[in-house]
Amino acid sequence: MAEGSGASGAPWQVAIVGSGPSGFYAAEALFKSGLPVQISMLERLPVPYGLVRSGVAPDHAKLKQVIDVYSRIAEMPGFEYYGNIRVGNDVSVGELCEAYDAVILACGAEADKPLGIDGESLAGSHTATEFVGWYNGHPDFRDRVFDLSHERAVIIGQGNVAADVARILARSPQELAHTDIAEHALEVLRTSKVREIFVVGRRGPAQAKFTSKELKEFGELEECDASIDPAELALNEASAAEIAGAGNAGAKRIVEIFSGFAARPPGKARRRVVFTFQKSPARIEGDSRVRNIVLEHNVLSGAPMNQSARGTGKFMSLETGLVFRSIGYRGIAMPGVPFDPRSGTIPNLAGRVVAEGQSVPQIYVAGWIKRGPTGIIGTNRADSVATVASLVADLPKLSAAGGKSGFASLRSLLHGRGTRPVSFSDWKRIDAAEVARGANLGKPREKFTYVREMLALLA
Ligand code: NAP
Repeated sequence: MAEGSGASGAPWQVAIVGSGPSGFYAAEALFKSGLPVQISMLERLPVPYGLVRSGVAPDHAKLKQVIDVYSRIAEMPGFEYYGNIRVGNDVSVGELCEAYDAVILACGAEADKPLGIDGESLAGSHTATEFVGWYNGHPDFRDRVFDLSHERAVIIGQGNVAADVARILARSPQELAHTDIAEHALEVLRTSKVREIFVVGRRGPAQAKFTSKELKEFGELEECDASIDPAELALNEASAAEIAGAGNAGAKRIVEIFSGFAARPPGKARRRVVFTFQKSPARIEGDSRVRNIVLEHNVLSGAPMNQSARGTGKFMSLETGLVFRSIGYRGIAMPGVPFDPRSGTIPNLAGRVVAEGQSVPQIYVAGWIKRGPTGIIGTNRADSVATVASLVADLPKLSAAGGKSGFASLRSLLHGRGTRPVSFSDWKRIDAAEVARGANLGKPREKFTYVREMLALLA
């Protein structure tokens, strides 16, 4: 382990870009390394916590409790939070490398994968990211418009994000009223005419990506039934082998939960969520807006755990005014940093950014921008620990180690560019104001959904 930061005895200066789980777990790992370290966490929004604030569904309050862990890290000596700074825009990664000994990019995967089919950009066809950001009050999506006047919504993809989108459409307004859902979204959801929500998988029930806890919730909603055609649960030989495999208990449990839904007598709830399998979207049709979606039936082929879907040339059509694609996130390139557009990640070896097989000095990655958009919140802890292990091993070898001035040298540069950094104590004022706004509505918080509102509060 590196012991100090050179003759000056000053701490090592590390910038972490992004304030979501992987950023905070990287900070935690740096503190645990025993290095004398000064951490600047830079976040493009004034408010911290990334997807825990703006991705985790409002009805999953327990998952958000992890914020208590992050805020304890933020209060540790040697940690500073600077919100409202967009790295790549307000300050470049090159400038960070001049001011810091090391930079960890933990900026997540903010874009969506496209389906690449006709009609994808019609009005009424949305990404899950937009909808999730909208109901969670993310400033980027505050002014998106979702027309919920149609009876049927179709969601493409069977991962946990699709589950979140389906559940928020399926829940009654009373179930959401006392969550931290953004009030502008709740108002629209109160008038929703959506009665039927199709959740479409391109492969079979054994390959759905839901986790069992999230899937089970569809059997427990107040005003919504879960529905499956039992014939769709027939497994081919490879899928039967998959769920019999010792390492695949999760998929076995998912198939059991689906079977439980299929065995229920038809319910009488106001809404129903329909899970359907082995269908891929072929095109979305409509003139000025979505009118229906055409799905192609698939067959599965390949060895167990490696099956892929292939179209059969047989199609079906679902009338709908609302389509969400929820087929995974993608990272966005950071100016001046290598990027693999195929995977939407920054190429790296054990967290060290690499270009043409050589590691790029000082720059590291953690979280979804490092490994792609997989895993749950806790998955990021081990990922960040691994990155920090690489960084700690490298620090003594960095030629410019020690003596860097960290945020002190950025402050005037940012000021000159008209950027006003938001500190952690500023955030706590925003936090208190949000909690107070929420109390008036019987909610744990009512978020500010425009950056200008957040900054006005601090002015
Ligand atoms: P995901 O788990 O990777 O699911 C993506 C889904 O889209 C899969 O069903 C996939 O099918 C399908 N898909 C991909 N490309 C497709 C295409 N071209 N056409 C049709 N379907 C396609 O992604 P996610 O739901 O965005 O979740 C991202 C991560 O966040 C996951 O690790 C998830 O568990 C996590 N998350 C967790 C929670 C929670 O813990 N409550 C909540 C939200 C998200 P194939 O399997 O065939 O590729």
